Amino acid sequence: MKIPMSSPDLNDADRQAVINVINTPILSMGKYTADFEKAFCDLTGAKYAIAVNSGTAGLHLCVRAAGIGAGDLVITTPFSFVASSNVLLFENAIPVFVDIDPKTGNIDPELIADATKNIEKYLPRKVEADGHPPLRAILPVDVFGQPADMDAINAIAKEHGLTVIEDSCEALGATYKGKHAGTLGDFGIFAFYPNKQITTGEGGVIITNDDKAANLMRALRNQGRAPGDTWLQHTHLGYNYRIDEMSAAMGASQMLRLDAILSKREQVAAWYESRLEEIAGVEIPFIESFTTRTSWFVYVIRFDKKINRDEMARKLEARGIPVRPYFLPIHLQPYMVERFGWREGDFPVTEDLGKRGLAIPFSGVMTEEQVDYICNIIREEVSKI
Ligand SMILES: *Cc1c(COP(=O)(O)O)cnc(C)c1O
Repeated sequence: MKIPMSSPDLNDADRQAVINVINTPILSMGKYTADFEKAFCDLTGAKYAIAVNSGTAGLHLCVRAAGIGAGDLVITTPFSFVASSNVLLFENAIPVFVDIDPKTGNIDPELIADATKNIEKYLPRKVEADGHPPLRAILPVDVFGQPADMDAINAIAKEHGLTVIEDSCEALGATYKGKHAGTLGDFGIFAFYPNKQITTGEGGVIITNDDKAANLMRALRNQGRAPGDTWLQHTHLGYNYRIDEMSAAMGASQMLRLDAILSKREQVAAWYESRLEEIAGVEIPFIESFTTRTSWFVYVIRFDKKINRDEMARKLEARGIPVRPYFLPIHLQPYMVERFGWREGDFPVTEDLGKRGLAIPFSGVMTEEQVDYICNIIREEVSKI
């Protein structure tokens, strides 16, 4: 049995939507982009949605719109996909990492609170504390489709006048205390690479209620053209972060059945849970009581300390099961070590989860037989240890 790591969940209507676009001459900045954006306002209740050509582009525009610039400090998590920190480096801002909750892998609000009071303790080795470092924002990530503890984070942000950028790139459709992921801070970002819950090939969407920021981000996505600018007038330094119409049409079509797409993923997660929870040495994902809906992005198990994750990964790969360690900590990526001087031991919880976590094949198009097959192999390999 050949099982892919992930698979898009596309149907004939999605394919037809793309064909409809390519039968017209309008391949960018047309009605499908507007439709796609509207689907996010309708889903989340956000005032504005701005579609872009990647989640990273969306995060970067939020950093620009928040006015975060050179030397500014932003509290964020080292347990994430690198993009959430990279967008700070793009603007020469400084990621101030705090460690995570060992159960969920989400940023720990108590450590954020401590960092706001004792920032020097949290600065990277290669950054000089100059007395009053300009702490500007908090950038939490809804890891693996489960929202961070946003009420606690927002309370700290409010106390210190910080902007909150919620990286919901893994959490489209998740809810926290009944509220949609992405709406919980000042800005929320979703992403649509083919392994995400819905896909546009490449793409992202920003949501916000901030009129001024929304206008600026629309301009920055389109080469800095402000409303009223002609094609060759550029009020701002901008980017080409536009999504194309084929991608937007594919995404808009999937948004029509988002709930069904997420339900299928929930079913696959439940199949995994019922089979894996009884295997000694394997931990299944922990869901917080305030997570009112998990939007399953990946299925990450953790092995006991006794079990060598990398060795287990090799054994599973050798038996045809693709797997991926999730996440390798951001602070230990070579360019981060070089720039900021982080070391092994700086964020022990992140490093521990980074050593024990393994994503196993996951998508909404998996069958119960495939889940069975994978779980049987995991059970066999673990029992040999
Ligand atoms: C997928 C993802 C992104 C954005 O990824 P793109 O490939 O740029 O669309 C950002 N942050 C996190 C946490 C992600 O998982």
